[in-house]
Formats: sequence, structure tokens, C-alpha cells
Amino acid sequence: MNKAFVREPEFNGRAFCPRCGALGVPVEHGPLDRHIRAASRSKLGDFAWFCGYARCEAAYFNLFDAVVLTDELNAPVYPKDLNAPICACFGLGYDEVEADAQEATPRRIRELLAKSKSPEARCAALAADGRSCMSAVQELYLKLRAARSG
Ligand SMILES: [Zn+2]
Repeated sequence: MNKAFVREPEFNGRAFCPRCGALGVPVEHGPLDRHIRAASRSKLGDFAWFCGYARCEAAYFNLFDAVVLTDELNAPVYPKDLNAPICACFGLGYDEVEADAQEATPRRIRELLAKSKSPEARCAALAADGRSCMSAVQELYLKLRAARSG
């Protein structure tokens, strides 16, 4: 029988955190190699998912129920720890976003936006979730602005 005719279950790339049920963000080996401690790195292969839910203790997981917890990481990551840099490439953190929210113009975020388009932005390799932090930064900024005016 031709293998092409064996029907396999469709996998759409979506995976949910086994601890909290949040939709995971797919990541490749760059963030995994950088953020997971050597002793725990072998739990996951070259492809896994990041759990972006702040209050969940799971950082990474795969489809075989392997889980790497936040305390198995080399350093705390945002949003699991609000004191960790939000931007893995340039180090912008919660305090800077908060400072921008208190001023008339978001100067620091605009600078970051410009830098995020430069070759020094290496989110795919450096960020815990392998993605640009701009949406997380803007989301936090809007939240802090709303809290301030409300
Ligand atoms: Zn989770």
C-alpha cells in the first residue's frame, strides 16, 4: 500500500500547555538552548511551545507532555517574572514602559520600535517565546495608561 494513502490525523501546529491550558507559542531550538538550563535541556527536542500565561509555572512543553518549569531556566523571563526584561534583545523592562506611560510621549517604546527593525533585534533566537516583544510592550503600555487615567 502506498504510504501516501495512509491518512494521518491533521496537526495544525496548535498545542496547549499541559499545566494551565493556555495556547502555546511555537519555538525552535534558539530560545530553548538559550533559556533552559543544561540539566533540563534534554527534556525537549529542537521544537517546543512556550506558555505565555504569567501565572503558570510551566515555561516550555512539547506534545509528549515534557514540561520545563520556570525554575529550570537560566534566568527569569517575562511575563512569568515582571522584573525580567520584556525585550530580550535590548533589555527594555516593565519600569521603562511604566515611565513611558507616565509621560506625554512613549519615548522609550518609540526608540525600541526603531531598534526592533535593526539587525541587532534577534528575537527569534533571544526572546523566550522567539517572537518580537513589541506587542507585549504595547499591550503593557496601554494597560498602564488605562490604569493611570482610570
Ligand atoms: Zn501554562
